[in-house]
Amino acid sequence: MDHFSLREGALHCEDVPLAEIAAAVGTPVYVYSSATMVRHARVFRDAVAATSDPLVAFAVKANPNGAVLATLAREGLGADVVSIGEYRRAIAAGIPPERIIFSGVGKTADEMAYALTGGLLQFNLESVEEAEMMSAVASSLGVAAPVAFRVNPDVDARTHKKISTGGALSKFGVPIGDALEYYARARELPALDVQGVAVHIGSQLTDLAPLESAFGKVGKLIGELRVAGHDIRFADLGGGLGVPYDRDMPHPPGPQEYGAMVARITADWGVRLLFEPGRLIVANAGVLLSEVIRVKPGVGDPFVVVDAAMNDLMRPSLYDAYHAIDPVTPGNSQMTVNVVGPICESGDTFATGRRMGAVVAGDLVVFRTAGAYAATMASTYNSRPLTPEVMVSGDKFAVVRARQDIEELIRADKLPDWLG
Ligand SMILES: *Cc1c(COP(=O)(O)O)cnc(C)c1O
Repeated sequence: MDHFSLREGALHCEDVPLAEIAAAVGTPVYVYSSATMVRHARVFRDAVAATSDPLVAFAVKANPNGAVLATLAREGLGADVVSIGEYRRAIAAGIPPERIIFSGVGKTADEMAYALTGGLLQFNLESVEEAEMMSAVASSLGVAAPVAFRVNPDVDARTHKKISTGGALSKFGVPIGDALEYYARARELPALDVQGVAVHIGSQLTDLAPLESAFGKVGKLIGELRVAGHDIRFADLGGGLGVPYDRDMPHPPGPQEYGAMVARITADWGVRLLFEPGRLIVANAGVLLSEVIRVKPGVGDPFVVVDAAMNDLMRPSLYDAYHAIDPVTPGNSQMTVNVVGPICESGDTFATGRRMGAVVAGDLVVFRTAGAYAATMASTYNSRPLTPEVMVSGDKFAVVRARQDIEELIRADKLPDWLG
């Protein structure tokens, strides 16, 4: 459920007409509904509340905007971070260190030292090499690093290959079959508190079966680790639940079904559960608002050329992702079109042969479900300034990231002295 709806023929975000935001801020612009994020955070929290003292740590990479993080921090969410930049943004937004999990396959010694100094709940380690570096860094600081290994359960997540992370040949995690050996090696290293197990098999999952299979393997491993004398107190079950991008497709399983499955599988684990949802919390809470520059006739379907492009919203060109596209003031007629941006790449295509509400030059459209993995992946390709972001709350809205100024872009380049 989201808070983008038609009122008197015009699409609103909560109580604000999208046309008003376009007029005030210009297009393209991301628009977030804070009521939608808050709702998703609460629904997820409630869905896993039956487990013991769960921590819901928002996957910051889905949407690191400070206003988004601050909104979720007020709901008591923690953060799952994968870089020192994300760690610092989470702290700056008011997320307490004891609710921060640090994931990622390539943490550097500097990142480890920074987070150890600032504090955190857990590092999820992905190799013995990383455990050795962590041990050395923690020793030099005179502290113990709270760690888990992220295990790779070798399950097929049945999602797009670029967002599937739980296959045996994936770069992520340590093979679950060798996990006992990894834990034994880590125990011998100084300055590590080996406290947990972590798993994350992929994103936009539309089926609970691979998750259930992965969690089953983690449960078995926790038992084996305890027999081997490890004091396992945390299990991090990652993120990954999918959201409905295409209204005409069956909806993915919801948080309640997920929560019930988790409660059943983990009933006798005797650990604190950690969750890392990203997309589920913010995807439906955002749209990319764009203006139609012109409609260009084609040999086949006409091209609707909009002022947003692949640099603003990469998901269609990166993952062949589907975003519903709707006029902000829909009429009664429909058309079949290709929706494209102005960038000089054929990949700058949002939809091909799409049946949608008819639009003409100057009309506003929205790309729905653009609150996750969207603004954060924007670039300045084709020297297009970074897309601004707006947050709505009730009848108020605020620019939460300003449109980049082209002057800024130019000034960031420095001429070498031989050209000066
Ligand atoms: C990306 C990621 C998540 C979030 O995934 P969603 O599909 O957005 O829920 C959680 N944990 C880790 C380790 C990740 O890399």
